[in-house]
Amino acid sequence: MVTETTTAKAVLGVYQPGSAHMVGDGFPVRNLFPSNDLDRAVDPFLMLDYAGPQYFQPTDHPRGVGEHPHRGFETVTIVYDGVLAHRDSTGSGGVIGPGDVQWMTAASGIVHEEFHEKEFAKKGGTLHAIQLWVNLPRASKMSAPGYQTILKADIPSVDLDGYGTLRVIAGSYLGKKGPAHTFSPVQLYDVQLNAGGRARLTVPDGDTSSIFVLQGRASVNGSREAGEAELIVCERNGSQVTIEAQEDSRLLVMSGTPLDEPIARYGPFVMNTKTELIQAVQDYQAGKMGHLS
Ligand code: MN
Repeated sequence: MVTETTTAKAVLGVYQPGSAHMVGDGFPVRNLFPSNDLDRAVDPFLMLDYAGPQYFQPTDHPRGVGEHPHRGFETVTIVYDGVLAHRDSTGSGGVIGPGDVQWMTAASGIVHEEFHEKEFAKKGGTLHAIQLWVNLPRASKMSAPGYQTILKADIPSVDLDGYGTLRVIAGSYLGKKGPAHTFSPVQLYDVQLNAGGRARLTVPDGDTSSIFVLQGRASVNGSREAGEAELIVCERNGSQVTIEAQEDSRLLVMSGTPLDEPIARYGPFVMNTKTELIQAVQDYQAGKMGHLS
């Protein structure tokens, strides 16, 4: 009943990947942002890398990206196919497979490595994943680092009136709460929608909302149909987001309350000012973000 009186968000645009590159030797990614210059329209989200789907031959030397730092934000890795292994300087580690999510809070600083899991690498197989960076508010950028392994079984799944399913990774949907702890209001949904199906979402007016199409074909609020690896971005104004699937589709819905704070980026560091970036580089070089044991 609530939804009938709210305003539909206008669609800002439908975007294609702005770049394609390898991260380390294990992650062939297509980047949707920041390469599409969407900063304000996707705030608090900073980066979306779409990895694969790509088949990897069997190997005894797992591919991936070795020891590197992060500061000032969170990295969220969602696995659709394949198995990934992680280790970090806080002593945390974990293995995530299809349906699982890793939510790593770099905050004041973390050093980690991200690889294909050993047995998966040995057998060979398809890797299909997303890495999303979520910004931290200024007040939380220097908080203690943390790590959450979110397994498939811990993610509530909501039926979409027989049209598909919506898994609540973060935030909530129809009273079902996602397991991820977030520092600012974020809704992150893994959606499967059948051809001809429809999902109606209501988000706070003023929040950013974008919908990434992994597979299939879908439109939002009357936009053009977006296909594989395309991103539909809504305007901040309005609160109603209606997704319609023209084909069986797999979608990632990202919605959040914008931080509207200055963004200073340098590689794996995202702070508010250039001075803080220089400090981050110095702290990393001085070993203050730790090392892998
Ligand atoms: Mn990383």
